[in-house]
Amino acid sequence: MYLDKDFIKQSLTIEEITKLLIELGSAAPLTDRNGNPKFQTICHNLPNQNNSFKLYYYDNTKLFRCYTGCGESFIDIFELIEKAIYIQKGYE
Ligand SMILES: [Zn+2]
Repeated sequence: MYLDKDFIKQSLTIEEITKLLIELGSAAPLTDRNGNPKFQTICHNLPNQNNSFKLYYYDNTKLFRCYTGCGESFIDIFELIEKAIYIQKGYE
């Protein structure tokens, strides 16, 4: 067996996703009525305690979707990390 992005994407737990999002600047998530975590947006803005909890993670598909600001979908955690780092680096 070898590790690839898709394998990692499929094996990440919600707890691990949560740790990564907190590293990227979200607070601990809220949950929607289906039990999916909703994080503070870090996909189109810098981390801030006032950011809205509009970045949803869907564990069944492993997708992220922003419901404000950029309105983007991210096919996996890697795409989201790249975008967040890009934004945060731009303000260094
Ligand atoms: Zn966004």
